[in-house]
Amino acid sequence: MIKGISASKGYAIGQAAIKSNEDIIITETKINDVAAEKNKLSVAIELTRKQLNIISQKAEKEVGKDNSSIFESHMMFLDDPEFTGMAEASIENNMINAEKALQDVVNEYMGIFAAMDDEYMRERGADVRDVGDRIQSNLAGKSYGKMDEIGENTIVVARDLTPSDTAQLDKSKVIAFLTDIGGRTSHTAIMARTLEIPAVVGMKDITARVKNGDNVIADGCEGIVILNPDKKTLDEYKQKKYEFEKERELLKKLVNIKTRTKDGKRIEVVGNIGKPEDVNKVLENGGDGVGLFRTEFLYMDRDSIPTEEEQFQAYKYVTQKMGDRPVVIRTLDIGGDKKLSYLPMAEEMNPFLGLRAIRLCLGRIDIFKPQLRALLRASAYGNLKIMFPMISSLDEFLESKRILKECMQELKSEGKAFNEKLETGIMVEIPAAAVCADELAKHVDFFSIGTNDLIQYTIAADRMNEKVAYLYNPMHPAVLKLIKMTIQAAHAEGKWCGMCGEMAGDENAVPTLLEYGLDEFSMSASSILNTKKLIINN
Ligand code: PEP
Ligand code: MG
Repeated sequence: MIKGISASKGYAIGQAAIKSNEDIIITETKINDVAAEKNKLSVAIELTRKQLNIISQKAEKEVGKDNSSIFESHMMFLDDPEFTGMAEASIENNMINAEKALQDVVNEYMGIFAAMDDEYMRERGADVRDVGDRIQSNLAGKSYGKMDEIGENTIVVARDLTPSDTAQLDKSKVIAFLTDIGGRTSHTAIMARTLEIPAVVGMKDITARVKNGDNVIADGCEGIVILNPDKKTLDEYKQKKYEFEKERELLKKLVNIKTRTKDGKRIEVVGNIGKPEDVNKVLENGGDGVGLFRTEFLYMDRDSIPTEEEQFQAYKYVTQKMGDRPVVIRTLDIGGDKKLSYLPMAEEMNPFLGLRAIRLCLGRIDIFKPQLRALLRASAYGNLKIMFPMISSLDEFLESKRILKECMQELKSEGKAFNEKLETGIMVEIPAAAVCADELAKHVDFFSIGTNDLIQYTIAADRMNEKVAYLYNPMHPAVLKLIKMTIQAAHAEGKWCGMCGEMAGDENAVPTLLEYGLDEFSMSASSILNTKKLIINN
């Protein structure tokens, strides 16, 4: 048994096919004819562009536009004057061959991605390597990344799978991916989840341990692989596979079901998103809307605050995609563990108790107002609701509303449309808000309980500190009491109450939350169907 990282759930039983990229050895040679060398590079880049266009169209047909957009980012490297310009400049300045000049540029870009904080961005280094390898293959006149004819039930084993590798695979025959490297956000992992086939990644040396044609069991649930299993193991996994697929089929049937409890109460199961594109997964998994859009992600991985217009486009996209389904968008929650490189913030002894979220926004109207204006403008396109984070007192909510009203006045005088009746609510994630929920409920349109923070503040157990993780318990009686109080307070004023902390998708907590009368459960898209099932059976 070989252990790796579970990147996509499910079980596959089939034969291994190893994808090896013929390594192209790149050496530096001195050249005399700069123009000829540059021309060689530009011919290879043009050929690469043509190939990527074909692959991208094929991928779009197979996995849809959103999942094939990766090739657009590949194409962007080809169109990036800096990327190609640096290679050309190196040919000229160093009088070296195109292959070596290109390789240096690719390495430099990969180094930049590798140094980024964000895991997703780090993984994008694989994209520039993929483009680079493809251009190198074209420079060398070789075909790139193709696998020989593969048979039915193929388990693809590779060091890593690039987007163009997976685009060229015959998906009807591939039943699992196993790779030496990569993590849960690597391309292989994302692709496997999209195709709904199991994947085990980060196995270090699976390509060396397996031979073409070996019988293989891939267990994407536990992240393990079994080579040439005996009959008993094989039977055991056939059964697991059967049960997993039966369960998945049953869950799929729930996509279009409006969730009700056994006694007939309608419960909304909605998704948490961080990027506008994430709405697609929410829809695919049958989400009734968006219960939390963490807008701070729009502010990250860039050099400046997104403009009102940029934000408007993002909020409008999500709102329109969701049609008449609710979209709860939370105003900026920065501070605590989330920092912006371009927004200097003073060092704090206790950042989680410091200038975070609404506290920061109320002191920085220049940041707050453009976001509110963008949200208001997007509200003209669907069922958008605004939610303020980290509210600890009524004053903070009333002040936020006052500024929102100011923005409404401005937009009116500018003749810009917005929904005058849009709902505004708060996150209940500070114990003070839960305790004063009866008073707050008179003023808000809704509550959404942020248990990730509510638990840490109630038990005084840092949510990031593994040393006190044993104390961080969603089912602590104090936490449960605060949740119950909050829901009751909302209902007493005829308002609705949701939950967007991780607890909403926690199998152990769902029955209790239903008993308390929670109206809306918001969670990551992949948990939606399972939660729907739990609610229906409750
Ligand atoms: C929460 O605190 O429960 C929550 C959903 O917000 P975040 O995790 O973004 O702090
Ligand atoms: Mg929070």
